[in-house]
Amino acid sequence: MGDRVGVVWDPALLGYDLGGDHPFNPVRLELTMRLARGLGVLDGVEFVVPDTAGDADLGRVHRPDYVAAVREAPMASWDVGHGLGTADNPVFDQMHAASALVVGGSLAAARCIADGGVDRAVNLAGGLHHAMPDRAAGFCVYNDCAVAISWLLDNGFDRIAYLDVDVHHGDGVQTVFYDDPRVLTVSLHQHPATLWPGTGSVTELGGPGAQGTSVNIPLAPGTRDAEWLRAFHATVPSLLAAFRPQVLVTQCGVDTHVEDPLADLALSVDGHREIYRTLRDLAGQYAGGKWLVMGGGGYELLRVVPRSWTHLLATVLDRDIPVETALPVDWATSVRKLSPNVVLPSVMGDGVDVAFQRWGGGREQPVDTVIRDVRNAVFPLHGLDPDDPRD
Ligand SMILES: [Zn+2]
Repeated sequence: MGDRVGVVWDPALLGYDLGGDHPFNPVRLELTMRLARGLGVLDGVEFVVPDTAGDADLGRVHRPDYVAAVREAPMASWDVGHGLGTADNPVFDQMHAASALVVGGSLAAARCIADGGVDRAVNLAGGLHHAMPDRAAGFCVYNDCAVAISWLLDNGFDRIAYLDVDVHHGDGVQTVFYDDPRVLTVSLHQHPATLWPGTGSVTELGGPGAQGTSVNIPLAPGTRDAEWLRAFHATVPSLLAAFRPQVLVTQCGVDTHVEDPLADLALSVDGHREIYRTLRDLAGQYAGGKWLVMGGGGYELLRVVPRSWTHLLATVLDRDIPVETALPVDWATSVRKLSPNVVLPSVMGDGVDVAFQRWGGGREQPVDTVIRDVRNAVFPLHGLDPDDPRD
């Protein structure tokens, strides 16, 4: 399978570095790649090296005055606006080039699928889903997800499903395609009343010509793997079956983990692994096997992100790693060099059982409230029956 998957990587992607103590630290990518190599996940894989995205591609999503502001921000002694120079989105050297390279990575992945004869492609550096057409937001300068989807729409795809499992609402991508019936955006995230950016409620359904193509599944703080998976399976597969996408695009942020410092869901690495395997199944079942994978958030840099995203790479490559697999000694040593006091897990899982009860029949659970709200709001717009568990 290794030669049928496009894995985008270039150490230059580590240049997307917001600096100082900013939580979006590129060490998370570096340690992921090192762990994946240590476990043999990347053996024989030839990386797809991305080009920097040009203005024409950035212009698919972003306004020219915003791109100009990103370019000039590091040199400017004045406030360039557009959300730049804030605590969340500090200005850094080479900001435009580094951000455009991330976009180039997701474009390269999209190209692999559109004309490279490849079914799956992954850009872990991508997934910057909060960037808006005219401004930076939530650590995201350019929205590589939206640019890649827009490119696919111009290159042979006219039904695209975007699935966002980051703990934060995929607001930028939803905004860009809110009125476009060709793109189904689905976001599962922590409830907007309890987490930035405060959007992503069930009632955001898409514009007048695209009703039902924005889907939001807000989850209560403390939601665990079994509840998350119950909500997912009660809503997402039916929608994909009805929408019949030609490609599944997924943003795979891992800030849903219980140890993530920026949010309050309670998933495990085992749960993440189960999610990736489910996404792979769904791409096979409903999108002709075509699966474009991006990274995203995730701020427990040492204990969580490298393990979770190693599972993601392994899943994309059909080289699944058992959760009992020991962490390589060399890898642990390199992490302790960075952070001498870190207490590392010893294996690739958290020891959590990810079994869950399917919705429909059986005992009512607290998460069923949102399941019903989503099904009632969205299912009729796709010809599905909200009350029928077979739908
Ligand atoms: Zn996030």
